[in-house]
Amino acid sequence: MECYEAEEMVSGYINNTLKTADLEKFLEHVRKCPSCYDELEMHFIVNEAINRLSEEGETALDFKVLLEQDLKQAERHVLRLRLQKVLILWALITVLILAVFFGLYALFT
Ligand SMILES: [Zn+2]
Repeated sequence: MECYEAEEMVSGYINNTLKTADLEKFLEHVRKCPSCYDELEMHFIVNEAINRLSEEGETALDFKVLLEQDLKQAERHVLRLRLQKVLILWALITVLILAVFFGLYALFT
């Protein structure tokens, strides 16, 4: 992914509207690219600050920690979906193998 593509996805990330495939590529890029990470951090902080203006009692928030938590959560989400896909594929292959096996068994008995 190119930096300009990642920059276009920043608001999508913050608003939680990225598709999983895009989210995955975005996360990969942001983890490797310091300039896009900074860009994301700036947007994230502004967004969090606006969100929390109305909330009282929360002062001295560490936005960097919040962003890290948010990124980790997104990464876990992507990982879980990927694992799900693998498990479904694995189940399909198992069913296929069993079907072939019983098909052959039926043919030769
Ligand atoms: Zn970049």
